[in-house]
Amino acid sequence: MGYGSVYECRKCGYRASGLEGIGFAYPEVYRKVQRDAAAGRYGKEVQQFLREHPHGQISAEYIMVVCEDCGHIESVLELSMYIPEDGYDPEKDPDYHGYLMGYEFAEHYTLVKTYRHTCRRCGGEMKRPDPDQKEFRCPVCGEVLEEKGLMWD
Ligand SMILES: [Zn+2]
Ligand SMILES: [Zn+2]
Repeated sequence: MGYGSVYECRKCGYRASGLEGIGFAYPEVYRKVQRDAAAGRYGKEVQQFLREHPHGQISAEYIMVVCEDCGHIESVLELSMYIPEDGYDPEKDPDYHGYLMGYEFAEHYTLVKTYRHTCRRCGGEMKRPDPDQKEFRCPVCGEVLEEKGLMWD
C-alpha cells in the first residue's frame, strides 16, 4: 500500500508533500534501486556494501525525512542496507516474487546500516522524525505541521 502524505502549516500555509511507503510500481522501483545501488548511483558506501555483501539488499520504500539544519522536508527512497539472516536465500524461497516487501525484510534480514540522506538545500543530514511522535515542524514558522494523508494505491 502506497500513499502520499501532505503536511500543512495552519499558521503560515507552508506545505510539504510526498510519497510514503510503496507505490503500485514497487517491483520495478525495487529492482531499479538494487541496480542503481550496485552501479554507485547512491554513493560509494552503498556500492561498497553490495560488493562486500553480494546477498545484501537495499530497502526501496519511500519515507519522509527532515533536515536537521534547515528543516526542509522531503520524500526519499529509504536505501537502508540489509543482509540476510541465517543464510536466507530468496532465490530458494518458493514464496519469493522477485522483490522484498517491508515485512520480508523484517522476517529474513538484519539492518546493517541506515543510509545518510543529505539535504538538497543546505547539505545537512536528513532524518526520519521520531517514530513515536512522527511529527514535522514548519521550517518557516516552527508550528507543528498537520498531517493530511492521501491514499492513492
Ligand atoms: Zn508555518
Ligand atoms: Zn537543509
